[in-house]
Formats: sequence, structure tokens, C-alpha cells
Amino acid sequence: MTDMLVPPAQDLFHDWRDGDTWLAGGTLIFSQPMPHLRRLRDLSDTGWQSITVSEAGLEIAATCGITELHEFKPPEHWRAGPFLRQSVEEYLASFKVWNRQTVGGNICASLPAGPMVTMGAALEAQYKLLAMDGSDRIVPAINFVTGDNTNILQPGELLRSIHLPMASLMRNYTLRRFSLTKHGRSSIYLVGTHDTKSSEILITVSAATIHPVHLRFTGLPSSEQVRKAVDQLIPAKLYFDDPNGTPAHRRHLTYVFAEQIRTELSAS
Ligand SMILES: Cc1cc2nc3c(=O)[nH]c(=O)nc-3n(C[C@H](O)[C@H](O)[C@H](O)COP(=O)(O)OP(=O)(O)OC[C@H]3O[C@@H](n4cnc5c(N)ncnc54)[C@H](O)[C@@H]3O)c2cc1C
Repeated sequence: MTDMLVPPAQDLFHDWRDGDTWLAGGTLIFSQPMPHLRRLRDLSDTGWQSITVSEAGLEIAATCGITELHEFKPPEHWRAGPFLRQSVEEYLASFKVWNRQTVGGNICASLPAGPMVTMGAALEAQYKLLAMDGSDRIVPAINFVTGDNTNILQPGELLRSIHLPMASLMRNYTLRRFSLTKHGRSSIYLVGTHDTKSSEILITVSAATIHPVHLRFTGLPSSEQVRKAVDQLIPAKLYFDDPNGTPAHRRHLTYVFAEQIRTELSAS
């Protein structure tokens, strides 16, 4: 990298060139060589409001710091409110990383162990993306990450915000996570939510897989139905393989955790 630019807030795509990329907290960008990059476009001066509560739900700006989300106190009647803070606590992070990283940076890094990736998928977030030609699009979080460190962003496209719908925030939830050490990187992370009115149960499988997967049940499922859904929706090639766990280990714990979540949510 040879250059850095703080684009004007009213024209973030100003003078876009090949080799440009967005800079949020910089904790991933500055942690490894990226010789293909020429210039960083710093998002720290956008002036975007970090967190906005409305009747429709919660709007989180991509530039919202992880610590800001951690400090946010959700209204008590949001049943899934405590999950926001818990999600943030699932990072493996040094002091520097903890204090610099952003919600959008984590989503766009699109790593299997990305806690904001899990949060967005589990709460059925909608992501707003801005394109260089001035257009925008809204995409469901579950479709955003496509693999280990890959996503649907087109060249130059910018994640603007994360919308968590009120309906998701009002659902009961539970989670199960495994990592090799107490404060280690997640190697399996499952979150279940339950809409008590419709009885729908949604289990989000993440970290075990290269991208999050939804297992959705219109009523309370049986153990057999959950097991079948894992088999049908998570083919072997989707399980992540890295030093934190083999695909076989991740698959085994996915069955175990999904069943625990089913049992717990069925009683909620
Ligand atoms: C010690 C250490 C531990 C870590 N542990 C974890 C972990 O447990 N889990 C995990 O997921 N990651 C982890 N990481 C990787 C990384 O730090 C995090 O993913 C972090 O959340 C990235 O956020 P950031 O704001 O610093 O993003 P940046 O480093 O600034 O950017 C990350 C990527 O996203 C792009 N980007 C950023 N914002 C936007 C936007 N609004 N629109 C479009 N593109 C954008 C950037 O161009 C870049 O490609 C770790 C890194 C280190 C050094």
C-alpha cells in the first residue's frame, strides 16, 4: 500500500481507482501483507450515526465500533437484546483489535469465526450496500458471506448499514459455542431463535461451516427432523477445516448443539 485517502462524506466513491479498498478499523488489513492493494479509503470520517433504535428494529452503521455495540443497552422487552452484547464477547481479540474493529469490518472480512457474521445471520439482518454508480441494494445477511473470507460485494461496493428487524429482536434465543481455549476463536457457533407466536424455530450454524447456514422449522421440530436438516443443508464440503477443528469434529458438534438448542427452545 502506498497511499491513504479520507473520502468526503458526501462523495465516498470520489476518484475510485484500481487497487483501492475500504479501511474500517484496519485490524485485518494491517495484520497481513496485501500486495494487491494500493490505496486505503478511510471510513472514519463518514459521520454515520452508529446505532439507531426505531419501531422497525435496530440500525447499526457499518462503521459502528465493536465496543459501541458492546456498551449499547437494548430495551428490556427485546428478548434477544442480550444476544447483541454476547455476540461481541465471542471475539478472539487483543486490546488493540477490541478497540479498533467495527461491525461492518467484521462482516466484510467474512471469516467463518466472525461473530458479527453470526449475529447478522441469526437475527436475519438486512444489509444495505452502496455501489459506485450511486445505486444501492438490500441483501439478507444469510446470503452475504459465500465462503472463507469471500462475500457478494462487487468491486468498490460498500456496506452501509445492518438492519436488525424488531421481529427478530423479540424472539427467544439460545446459543452454543465451542473453541479450543476459553477465549479462543470460535470453531463451532450455533444460535437458535424461537418465535413463540408461530412456533417457528431458526437454527443458524456458523463457524463450523465456511458460511452461515439456516435450518428453519415451521413448528417445533423433532430430533430426527433437526438431524435430517443438518444432513440435507450442510454437505461435507461446507464444513470448515483449519487448526481449530476438523470437519468431522465440527459436524459432530453441530449435531450435538443443534439438538440441545431444539430441546431448550421447545421448552421456551
Ligand atoms: C489478534 C487478532 C484476532 C482476531 N480475531 C478474530 C476473530 O475472532 N474473529 C474474526 O472474525 N476476525 C478476527 N480477526 C480478524 C479481524 O481483526 C476482524 O475480522 C475485524 O473485526 C475486522 O474489522 P475491522 O473494522 O478492523 O476491518 P478492516 O481490517 O478495516 O477491514 C476488513 C475488510 O473489510 C473491508 N471493509 C471494511 N469495512 C467495509 C465496509 N463498510 N464496506 C465494504 N468493505 C469493508 C476492508 O476493505 C477489508 O477487506 C482477528 C485479527 C487479529 C489481528
